[in-house]
Amino acid sequence: MTAAPEINVTKVETSRLKSMSLENLPFGRVFTDHMLEADYENGEWKNVEIKPYQPLLFEPSLAAFHYGQAIFEGIKAYRNEEGEAFIFRPYDNFTRFNLSAERMCMPVVPEEIFIEGMRQLIDLDKSWIPAKKDHSLYIRPFMIATDSMLGVRPSETYKFLIILSPTGPYFAAPMKISVEERYTRAAPGGVGFSKNAGNYGGSMMAAKQANKSGYDQVLWTDAFEHKWLQEVGMMNVFFLINGVAVTPSLEEGTILKGVTRDSVATLLQESGIKVEERRISIDELIEAYKAGQLQEVFGTGTAATIAYIKELKYKDHVMQFDLDKWKVAPAIRNLLNDIRDCRIADTHNWMFKI
Ligand SMILES: *Cc1c(COP(=O)(O)O)cnc(C)c1O
Repeated sequence: MTAAPEINVTKVETSRLKSMSLENLPFGRVFTDHMLEADYENGEWKNVEIKPYQPLLFEPSLAAFHYGQAIFEGIKAYRNEEGEAFIFRPYDNFTRFNLSAERMCMPVVPEEIFIEGMRQLIDLDKSWIPAKKDHSLYIRPFMIATDSMLGVRPSETYKFLIILSPTGPYFAAPMKISVEERYTRAAPGGVGFSKNAGNYGGSMMAAKQANKSGYDQVLWTDAFEHKWLQEVGMMNVFFLINGVAVTPSLEEGTILKGVTRDSVATLLQESGIKVEERRISIDELIEAYKAGQLQEVFGTGTAATIAYIKELKYKDHVMQFDLDKWKVAPAIRNLLNDIRDCRIADTHNWMFKI
């Protein structure tokens, strides 16, 4: 073990916050005064710096531009009424980030940089965490390959960064979803479980096609039979069938292990609802719908928390849901938001105090 790298801090002279309102901000367009940056070179992390938010300068031959060694995370920080700041389950994202790093042949980032750097950065930009209900500070840690070289091999140098973006409430409108039968997001042995940039690029076409026929997103299916359900867009998915919450299991490595997925599963179980992690097919879903047993369908993710699905289309089957009758998803959404906004006790130790 090498000693924890020191974090050098350079502060802005005047905060941009003075000329801004943090209310009803669009997602991911405004960034705080500071960012964290660290370099990986000769097998070690160095130059760990918190400095004014600023552009990066690279050669056109930057490895990340060409061969896709780029991974990221999405986390949120909140402020309670006393002004204290908390990060929601950052260690889960830390663990997942390093899983993604290993899969992409990138170096792992030590806790002293990922967690401690994030803590210091947020502490410095704490006044950027919107205090209003359902507002938060979105945290985007990411890593890119920085060799300037066109040969295809894992880069030898990398940059790790954290940027922060205050966001307003994300009122995800209930979605219309079409079940994907042509494109594939992830296959066994692939990179579906890792949060790498290419997964997003590769999935945009399916969403674009769905948009053309009036659907918001797709429900991904397996690569071989287009039958086994995976995720909805870039969110995990839950189906409430006859009072049991079913979510696709992770074992094939085709599903991103969402922190919200885990939080929602925990809260469902504590509310007395059985949760089953298993394979589930579109045929089972259609049968359940026909039998009047498919009660609620929703996506889970950090940005939206829980996004309701009001319509699901597969071939000529159109399954529609009366959201006014839903009890479970709204209750879990409120519970989770109450925990994150510090309105109720954090009995799971999910809130990491800055
Ligand atoms: C990030 C992501 C999720 C949601 O994960 P959370 O940890 O809940 O934010 C789900 N699916 C995909 C493909 C993702 O990239």
